[in-house]
Amino acid sequence: MAKIRPLFLSALLACSVLMGTLPASAEGRTYDDKEKITNTGVDLSTATTLTVAKPASAVTTTEEKYYITGTSDPSKSLTINGAAVEARGELGTYGMQVSLAIGVNTFVIQNGGETKTATITREQAPSVTKTTKLTAAKPTFDDLAFAGEYTLTCTAPSGAEVSAKVGSQTVKLEQVAATAEDGVPAVYKGSLILEANGEENRVIPSVIYTLNRDGQISTVESAGNLTILPSGSTPTVQVNQNSSTVYEKDDLGSNFVAMLNAGAQDKIVEMGDTLAKLSMGGWIKKEFVDLVEGDPSVTNRIESVAYEAGEGGEYLTLYGTVPSVFKSYMNSEKVYLRFYHMKGITNVPLTDSELFEKAQVSAEEDSLTLELFCREQDNLLGYDVRYNEDDSITIFFNAKPQVSSGEQPLKGVTVVVDAGHGGMDPGALGVLNGKGPNEDDITMAHAIALQKRLESLGATVVMTVPQNLSQQEKVVLHERVEITRQAEADFFVSLHCNSVGGTANDLKSKGSEVYYYENISRSFAQSAVSSLAENTGRDLRGVYYSNYFVTRNSLCPGILMEMGFVSNPEEYDALRSADSLWYTANGVADAILSFLAA
Ligand SMILES: [Zn+2]
Repeated sequence: MAKIRPLFLSALLACSVLMGTLPASAEGRTYDDKEKITNTGVDLSTATTLTVAKPASAVTTTEEKYYITGTSDPSKSLTINGAAVEARGELGTYGMQVSLAIGVNTFVIQNGGETKTATITREQAPSVTKTTKLTAAKPTFDDLAFAGEYTLTCTAPSGAEVSAKVGSQTVKLEQVAATAEDGVPAVYKGSLILEANGEENRVIPSVIYTLNRDGQISTVESAGNLTILPSGSTPTVQVNQNSSTVYEKDDLGSNFVAMLNAGAQDKIVEMGDTLAKLSMGGWIKKEFVDLVEGDPSVTNRIESVAYEAGEGGEYLTLYGTVPSVFKSYMNSEKVYLRFYHMKGITNVPLTDSELFEKAQVSAEEDSLTLELFCREQDNLLGYDVRYNEDDSITIFFNAKPQVSSGEQPLKGVTVVVDAGHGGMDPGALGVLNGKGPNEDDITMAHAIALQKRLESLGATVVMTVPQNLSQQEKVVLHERVEITRQAEADFFVSLHCNSVGGTANDLKSKGSEVYYYENISRSFAQSAVSSLAENTGRDLRGVYYSNYFVTRNSLCPGILMEMGFVSNPEEYDALRSADSLWYTANGVADAILSFLAA
């Protein structure tokens, strides 16, 4: 719905509204359908009368400062205890950080003739925060360990007695470091020798922790089970999560060496606390693998190879026996794929290939490397390795589509539009703390506007989140990635809003930023965010490389855009305007057009 704008709007804003209908595209494209594109059906409105969202009622805090927020009539002056409120959006959303004295603080908020009062009581912060609970009881996920020494850990009040029962063994845990006072959360550790069941695995359904605090006894079960494997065994495991990172070392901060999809199989040769080492080299999170029953061989004997050129790309299928693990990369000249424990390929028949002119196969010890060389530079968007039900492996090579001439330049182009959060996950609550549209409402409105723009240009759009997703559901990240792979998407665009915590001092945070993972996405990311920032007047914070889960795919250029800050009253209101929807939709669409035209 078009909003009735308050009359006080500055000449500048009115001007930018008008400019929205003028040519603004990098492609020299003109759009004159603002009403249609920005009419998304998502209600982004808030009250234009005086309300107080934070604090919603009298509150008690130990913080020295508090951020009072709410809605107001934007055409009338607004003061808190007589001081003019500076952070105020065009739709009347306001926020003001106030200092609190110890005791009861009363704030009178005045908007024209309306008055509201906020009462905030500040208490002296306790010198230390205490706990009565035992938490983080290891294993927090279904864990694997070789027979031998195993260390249990948990967090519990300092000065207590903690023990844990693993099967029939009981072990006492010791507090790792002393604290100034009893009751402060402390880490406890204890080791024991685990024994396997002879040559068989032994499963402990849960580790049971007992906390004894001055005679008050409570028990906590670990969330995960523990499987004890015979020492010296090399169990076969299967990856249970798409885009699972393989790290160079037994260290989550180390380099990524591979990215595996659900189904990939390899053997574990070494075990760390959180990560396990695969025989391909590299470490994977233990929670992202499951044991494969019967401990089968991971040697993949390829019996035949097929190559097929299709509509949106080309397919190489390896008919073998195991979903092999691999390392891979792509650059403007070639795709490199090194499959481990694979045998039996000497050449790749590039039947009718328009993408590749040459394939090279080289064998090393226990791996096969396939290199496919592009006919032309930059004619590939990406690739995707898929494991099929019959244990064959298909590699999809995603061809860069051609821009068509005329009214529908994006005909044949598939774009996945990912509205951040949704359903039971509201994302950031924003300046009104849930009493107005949240991040998910704002991302959905922008996603719909983008869908409309892209469809008007002929693109096929796949939305990861349905508009009316119920409050009991959510679309988890790996589903969003799976939707993108299924769609053989040419582009992936994830829309989010930024925010900072309500008590942070950094409440002036503002502007747009964008994240990408694969190199190919960089220019797309840059042009999308520049266009958004330039047209909306928002600060351009940056174009950043990051390994966000949703953009971490090799299939197609993907970006995650943080359009603006919902914690900032001015940007919160701006993000709910037709201008924001219009410039985001046009900016991303134009970035796709420029990318394809390059
Ligand atoms: Zn978000």
